[in-house]
Amino acid sequence: MRIDVLTLFPEIFHSYLGQSVLKKAIERGLVEIHLHNIRDWSHDKKHHKVDDRPFGGGPGMVLMAPPVVECVEAVQAMADQPGHLVMLTPQGRKLNQAIVEELAQYPRLLLLCGRYEGFDERIRLILKPDEISIGDYVLNGGEVAAMVVIDAVIRLVPGVLGDEESSRQDSFSGPERLLDHAQYTRPRCYRGYEVPAVLLSGNHRAIERWRLMDRRRRTEERRRDLLDSTTPRSGESTQDEK
Ligand code: SAM
Repeated sequence: MRIDVLTLFPEIFHSYLGQSVLKKAIERGLVEIHLHNIRDWSHDKKHHKVDDRPFGGGPGMVLMAPPVVECVEAVQAMADQPGHLVMLTPQGRKLNQAIVEELAQYPRLLLLCGRYEGFDERIRLILKPDEISIGDYVLNGGEVAAMVVIDAVIRLVPGVLGDEESSRQDSFSGPERLLDHAQYTRPRCYRGYEVPAVLLSGNHRAIERWRLMDRRRRTEERRRDLLDSTTPRSGESTQDEK
């Protein structure tokens, strides 16, 4: 998978790209990340300005349409295959595991990060991006949101985790989209808390049954809304449709 990030602050990504799962995925050629500075498409050759005051007045600055639109167009042309354009914005559809799975299907993503008061509306009108929010709160910029998208999406790229089963068993994943079950490792007893005996039994069917019950119980206790939601996975029908 190729991911192009369009940002005013590419340096924010440097340490993140060099860490852990993502670092290994890049080294193994499973994921390519390309950083592009929107300022390079500024029409202001002296100060590389990309923002201006809002028409109608008000606080802050707005990202101008020409450098952003032209940056996206130029980056699209950098590879044979056009990418799915994602605009990070608090006004987009709220990211969840179903949307992450949808994004992971694309061989190429472009992640457009905003700053200041956000984007000139013409950017949306011209580029028609897939607008994604990481939650109902406002960040200073889209970079952290882009990292959230990258982090969640690359886990689903085949080969990145090593064990495909591991992402299928995560919270919000699998056909039921339940929370993950409780996990234990050594020691067997810590400060009076014992590991449930079934996990030490070696009986794999009993362990699977216990884990499924634990996932259902935890989801019921912590996130009833997940049990109520009928969001089907792509290509699946809901119970009612069957
Ligand atoms: N004035 C904008 C609004 O209220 O919709 C917020 C602008 S915010 C200060 C600057 C940039 O941060 C946005 O353009 C967007 O790229 C990013 N951003 C802020 N909150 C975000 C969120 N919840 N999800 C994704 N991106 C976000």
